[in-house]
Amino acid sequence: MNKSLKHLSRNLLHGVLETLWIWRDERVAARLGWYLAVATNRMPAKYLICRRTPVDVELDAGEDELWSAHREAAKVFEETFGAVRSGELRLRELQRPAKSLMDLKVELVKRMLRHCNFCRWNCRVDRGEGAKRGTCMLDKVSRVSTYFHHLGEELPIRGLRGSGTIFFTSCNMRCGFCQNGDISKDKDNGMVVDPALLAMMMWELRVEGCHNINLVGGEPTIHLHTIVEAISLLGSVQPSRDKLVYLWMMKPDALSWRRLEPAQYLYEGELNAPILWNSNMFMSLETLEILRELVDIWLPDFKFGSNACSIKLARTPWYWETVSRNHKIIYDWGEDIVIRHLVMPNHVECCTKRVLSWISDNMPDVPVNVMDQYHPDCFADPLSPDYDPKYSEIARRPTREEILEAYRFARRLGLVFESISLEKSVFGLRP
Ligand code: SF4
Repeated sequence: MNKSLKHLSRNLLHGVLETLWIWRDERVAARLGWYLAVATNRMPAKYLICRRTPVDVELDAGEDELWSAHREAAKVFEETFGAVRSGELRLRELQRPAKSLMDLKVELVKRMLRHCNFCRWNCRVDRGEGAKRGTCMLDKVSRVSTYFHHLGEELPIRGLRGSGTIFFTSCNMRCGFCQNGDISKDKDNGMVVDPALLAMMMWELRVEGCHNINLVGGEPTIHLHTIVEAISLLGSVQPSRDKLVYLWMMKPDALSWRRLEPAQYLYEGELNAPILWNSNMFMSLETLEILRELVDIWLPDFKFGSNACSIKLARTPWYWETVSRNHKIIYDWGEDIVIRHLVMPNHVECCTKRVLSWISDNMPDVPVNVMDQYHPDCFADPLSPDYDPKYSEIARRPTREEILEAYRFARRLGLVFESISLEKSVFGLRP
C-alpha cells in the first residue's frame, strides 16, 4: 500500500481529524484548537467539566437565586476549564459533586420554559402548559426530523466520518427562502424525542465515529430544555433494541457505519463528544449563558446586514442588534467559532458587505464560510405553488459576478475564508 493510501485508510478507519490538510491553514487551526482536541479525544468536552463543577444552592430555590448560583459556578468552571485546557489538571482529579452546574442548568431551562425567554422574541408564554404558544409555535415537546452522519458540512466539521447532525423541527425566524423549509415551517414534521432518546441519538452518532454532535434545525435554541437535559444524560443512557427500532426511523444511514473502538470515544471512561451549536444566533442572553459551559464549537449563521432586510426577507425584527451582539459575546469569551454567511442575490451590498465588514471590525480572526449555494426555495421559489412575489428579488441563484464580488470583498478585508469556503470546488481552488 503506498503512503497516501495508507494515510487514507487510517483516516477512514479511525476518523482521525487532525491529519486533514485544512489544519495546515494556521489561522483556521488557531481558532479551532479546543474543538479539535475534544473531537480527537485529547481533551474532555465541556459538559464533562460542567458535571464536575459544584453549585451551592437548593434546586427548588427561586429563579433569581438559581441564576446567582449559576453565575458563581460559571466562574469556578472557567478556572477549572483553563486548568484542564492547559494540562495542569486532569478530569479524573475532579470529584463528581452532589449538585453540579449541569444539574443547575437543567433546572434553569425548565424554569425558563414556563415563561419562555429562550430567544429574542421573549414570548413569555408557559410552554409547559402549552395553552399559549410563542412565535416558534412549540409547546414543551421536541421533535427530530432526521439525524445522520452529515458529509456536507465544512471540512473541519465533517472530517471523514461526518458531523453527527440532529435536525429539530420549527424555527423562531421566518426566512421566506428557507432551505430547510420542510422542517422549519412544519413543527410536527418529525418524531417526538425526550431527553433520554436524544441522548441515545447523540451516543450512537459519536460511537459510530462522528466528529461532533451538531445541533441544528430549524433552530436548536427553541429546544433548549430538551437538549440541555439530553447533554446531562449523555453517556449514561444507551439505546435498547426497541429504542433503536424507533430511532432508526429517523436515521437514513442506520447500519451504514461501524462502531469504533471505545478508546476512540471514551475519555477517562466517559463518552466524550464535542457539542456543536448550529444556530441563527437569535437567542436571549440567558440562553447564551446556559450554553457557554456546554458548547465546544459554534457554527453561527450571520445572514442579514440590516433589520430592513431581516424584516423583509425573514419577518424578524431586532435581527442586527441581537445577532451581532451574540456573535461578539461568544468571540469575547474566546470560543471556537466558524461563521456562515450565505450570499443572496441582490443582497451583496446591503447584507454580504455589511456582515463581512462587521466581522472584520469585531472578530477578524474567525474563519468565515462565504457560501455560494443559495437557491430559491419555499416562498422565494418561482416554480413552487407557494411562491410569493414579494420575494422576487431573491427568486434566482446569485450570479457568478455576485459570488466573485463577495470573495473579492472578503479577501480585501483579509478575512479567514478561503480554505473554509473554497475547499469543495471541483476545480481545485484549494489553497
Ligand atoms: S423559543 Fe423564542 S419564539 Fe419560541 S416561545 Fe420561546 S421566546 Fe418565543
